Amino acid sequence: MKVGTVIVGSGVAATAVAQRLLADNPQASVLILEAGVRVKTKDFGLWEQYMLTRQTPYEQYTDLPYPQRDFPGENTSAGGTDMPLNGARVFAYGGSTLHWGGWAFRLKPEDFHLRSNTGEGIDWPFDYDELEPFYCRAEHHLAVSGDSRDPLLKRSRDYPFREFPFTLMDRPIADGLKKLDFDFGHLPIARRGVSGEPSRHAPCQTTGTCKYCPFGARYAACNYLDDFIEWNDWPGLSVRLGAIVDRIITDGKRRVKGVTFWDRETGASQDVEADRVIVAAGTIESAKLLQRSVSDDWRNGLGNNHDLVGRYLVTHPYFTFEGLLPANPLRLQAEMDFPTLVSRHFDSEPQQAAGKYVLVSPPDAVGFRLADSLQKGQSRAEIDAALTGRNGVQIHGMIEVFGRHYNRVTVAKEANGKVKYNRVGIPMTQVEYTKDPDFDQRMKDVEAQVGEILKAMDAPPTGTKSLSWRADHAASVCRMSSREQDGVVDADLRVHGIDNLYVISNAVFPNIGAINPTLTLTALAIRLGDHLNAGGGV
Ligand SMILES: Cc1cc2nc3c(=O)[nH]c(=O)nc-3n(C[C@H](O)[C@H](O)[C@H](O)COP(=O)(O)OP(=O)(O)OC[C@H]3O[C@@H](n4cnc5c(N)ncnc54)[C@H](O)[C@@H]3O)c2cc1C
Ligand code: SF4
Repeated sequence: MKVGTVIVGSGVAATAVAQRLLADNPQASVLILEAGVRVKTKDFGLWEQYMLTRQTPYEQYTDLPYPQRDFPGENTSAGGTDMPLNGARVFAYGGSTLHWGGWAFRLKPEDFHLRSNTGEGIDWPFDYDELEPFYCRAEHHLAVSGDSRDPLLKRSRDYPFREFPFTLMDRPIADGLKKLDFDFGHLPIARRGVSGEPSRHAPCQTTGTCKYCPFGARYAACNYLDDFIEWNDWPGLSVRLGAIVDRIITDGKRRVKGVTFWDRETGASQDVEADRVIVAAGTIESAKLLQRSVSDDWRNGLGNNHDLVGRYLVTHPYFTFEGLLPANPLRLQAEMDFPTLVSRHFDSEPQQAAGKYVLVSPPDAVGFRLADSLQKGQSRAEIDAALTGRNGVQIHGMIEVFGRHYNRVTVAKEANGKVKYNRVGIPMTQVEYTKDPDFDQRMKDVEAQVGEILKAMDAPPTGTKSLSWRADHAASVCRMSSREQDGVVDADLRVHGIDNLYVISNAVFPNIGAINPTLTLTALAIRLGDHLNAGGGV
């Protein structure tokens, strides 16, 4: 089989690149190879099932749940800090956007200059102004609802849809932030609003069950790929499911000529020839695919002459802190399953060297659950007392940590050197991660700061808190750099030293700032599409 471009993976990165390529070259041949299978979406039966059981249809395609994480589960761990992959990725058609929250932030200008500002890591090869027009296009691609008047960041185009209003539940946190004169705003989110334009996609109906959206209003890559295919937009686009790419085939040192994949059903191996190969397999699998694609010219794997593929692994530690509201006269309780208020006050240049962070008012900030009370058979008076009485209130957040050479992902092997495979048929992962020695002190500082906000909300901290290192935002393991000795891909996302091999994934971020990565990933994917359309890689 021979195609123009082969893309490994069918997540948002793959979908955005494919769309860009084909929109400009409708006759181009693009083959997407996806290890996972199809999960039914936009289905009311499944939605009702989710409502009653809280089980989502894609759960069986995520990494295994804790504590089955260790062999024969998804990953083995080494290093001092456990960074589990469980639940962090979906191996299915549409990839991890099947379960993402849709929070769609832009990085801030200082994030592109980490090295210059702090001495940590490396700078991006370009700055915010270069990416700004692509952010606008990404917001339209993902159908983001946001506040176009937010003065926080320079923008050249409005969001496609208006921001969601703050909920009543946001009120205590908003009051606390206001008292302290801390900035906050509307959380931008990839949920389609209503517009006068004809659209193939339904707008959000605010049912609030976004872990399973019955309308497809919350962006999921598979819905877009389905549309391209069902509307026959581009006959040259094809998607092959259950195709596990095993290695990339080289053609001398500077070129690749295709990939070898396994058919999950039959176990048969097949080669596909391509003019260009784009690796969009998610952070962890993109690095592992380069690592295992060894050749005489690339004995440590493609683009790995400097031993950087898989290294500088980071994610966002996700924290929660609780305070106690003495009373809840407004009868606050969760209105929707997504947040509407964010504070980026500490996601700022002065905080960058210590680790910047964002604070979010979670959708269930106040602990009261009407459904739980009803299920317990409580009387109306009991429910009323529980609702209006003392209630826990939470603030959530994410903090930036910096890449370290010793933190990395590799293929997990048994003692005899044999590769282990996960239940999808992909080689299993070894995660080696150790947090920085000063991280715990930084979290104490964050706790003290959030404590001040809770006090300003008249909800003194209870000491109840949590911290998760889960790899939802794993990044940087194929980082982008101007110089070959500093990274794996160049500013065009081309693997250093190979003319027609690209990586598009959170893996290419030199650093991830304090915010969720997918809007930036989509902006980079659109930028890559433009580069390819201008003749890149052929
Ligand atoms: C619970 C959760 C909530 C999240 N919420 C947000 C949010 O609100 N905002 C945000 O910005 N980000 C969020 N994220 C992160 C977001 O999901 C990712 O940034 C994004 O989906 C990554 O897209 P991708 O296309 O790079 O990779 P993926 O979507 O992971 O796609 C990679 C695809 O490649 C396939 N694949 C892997 N290896 C191979 C192989 N060898 N051969 C063939 N196919 C292969 C996989 O099956 C997968 O389908 C969240 C993540 C989690 C876990
Ligand atoms: S709130 Fe909107 S995005 Fe979420 S499930 Fe309902 S319609 Fe879908």
